[in-house]
Amino acid sequence: MLLPPQIYIGSTTINTMWFFIAMGALFYMFTVWYEGKKDGFDTDRVFDLIFISIVVAILSVIFTNYWFQRLQIVAYTSVLLKLDATAFAVTLASLVSLGIFTYFIRKWKWSIYRVMDDFSMGINFLLIFAATGRLLVFGELKQIAVITCLLLLYTRFLRFRGYRFPSGYVFTSFLYTTALCLLVFFRVSGYLLFFLVLVTIGTANLYFRRKRSMIKSSLPLDFLNLIKGKLTTKDKELKNQQELLKEEDAYLQEGRAEGNSEIIDEAILEDSQKEITDVKMNAVRSMRLQVRKALAFLKLGRYGICEVCGQPIDKARLEFYPEATKCVECAGKQ
Ligand SMILES: [Zn+2]
Repeated sequence: MLLPPQIYIGSTTINTMWFFIAMGALFYMFTVWYEGKKDGFDTDRVFDLIFISIVVAILSVIFTNYWFQRLQIVAYTSVLLKLDATAFAVTLASLVSLGIFTYFIRKWKWSIYRVMDDFSMGINFLLIFAATGRLLVFGELKQIAVITCLLLLYTRFLRFRGYRFPSGYVFTSFLYTTALCLLVFFRVSGYLLFFLVLVTIGTANLYFRRKRSMIKSSLPLDFLNLIKGKLTTKDKELKNQQELLKEEDAYLQEGRAEGNSEIIDEAILEDSQKEITDVKMNAVRSMRLQVRKALAFLKLGRYGICEVCGQPIDKARLEFYPEATKCVECAGKQ
């Protein structure tokens, strides 16, 4: 044991584990917010979902503790009581949150797969903190294996969310990994039931996700070829622009090294020029990124389908703006 199980602050006693849970919760919120922002989700709504998940988790713990204690008086043989209370509370919280999330996400027309990917990333961090806490406070050596599994999951799968792995796959890989950890390291009472729940949700997610990606774009082949040509040309143009800007930047840097801007005015002018070049460079970079994304969609046969709501993108929009990967409504929401 490296840390005491309890910390005394004045006359109050706090479980050391709570510090790890609180840290994990902060990391969870930050990750979900950050990843959600990257996906272009409305930040306020993402925070609503985070808030809901936390309230549901707290209520689940209270509910479980209350009923498990009450039932113990009534019947020792209750099937429910054979289940592990912590695992039960976690499963309950996950299922209820998933239900509420599905309702709101449908209403907002977001992609449930992307949202669940975001949240699995966040929960992954929360679990890493909890496992670290158990290792340091209770000296549970098996937590080293759990932490390794979760870190591997992050570096191999979660990190590539949405670009190496299509949305939805990350959520399933997260559920499978936690199910495996449960099976190997946490043989608490009723663990097979919890294992089954995790695998079922993971598989259902995969099934629906695959079914949805069967909706291939129905655009005619000659139109797609035309788009491909346009996008390839645009990509080349942007690449040239990037190189020109790099040269410009290098020239500015070089000029600076020679120390030819001793006069303050000149230095200010040089600084502002550098700023303009930086802004231009960022703009060109993000434009090129979007073009390459559209090209990747084309390759996958998903071109012309909105990446957020899954509805077909208007053909006129694609003609005017071939690198579009979102429909007008979804793009307008940002
Ligand atoms: Zn859309």
